[in-house]
Amino acid sequence: MGEKQIKVGLTFPPDKADKPIVTHLVRFDLGFNILKAYISPGILGTMILELKGSDENFEKCLAYLEEEGIQVKVYTDSVIRYEEKCIHCGACTAVCPSGALVMNRETWELEFDMDACLLCGHCVRACPARAIKSFDDAIL
Ligand code: SF4
Ligand code: SF4
Repeated sequence: MGEKQIKVGLTFPPDKADKPIVTHLVRFDLGFNILKAYISPGILGTMILELKGSDENFEKCLAYLEEEGIQVKVYTDSVIRYEEKCIHCGACTAVCPSGALVMNRETWELEFDMDACLLCGHCVRACPARAIKSFDDAIL
């Protein structure tokens, strides 16, 4: 069975923020990497995780998180929400730390690679044309 990689945003209600829920994800045989987290006991927490594994294990893991009362959002889209506004200036590529945004050297058009994206949000702030919309304003 093939492995794939997905990125998910988790929102923890205040009473779950200090529970070791993420450490329990190892039981689903998924590789995981925390890209970003704002979590403090007693307040709403957010986390962005990169998960690697099989579809079957993703489903089990996401069902577990939802059972635990964690809101889950799977990020699959491009960061470039308003393609018609993009003027291919390259400003976003200069601030992208992962190489997810690059200029195609033949067409001089912007290209995006979701697998490489860290959901850091730097490109949202750098775009003069407002062609990039954040995945989630609360997180980015
Ligand atoms: S969110 Fe960050 S990593 Fe993703 S494309 Fe924008 S700058 Fe690059
Ligand atoms: S900064 Fe904005 S307008 Fe410039 S290439 Fe990136 S998405 Fe397009």
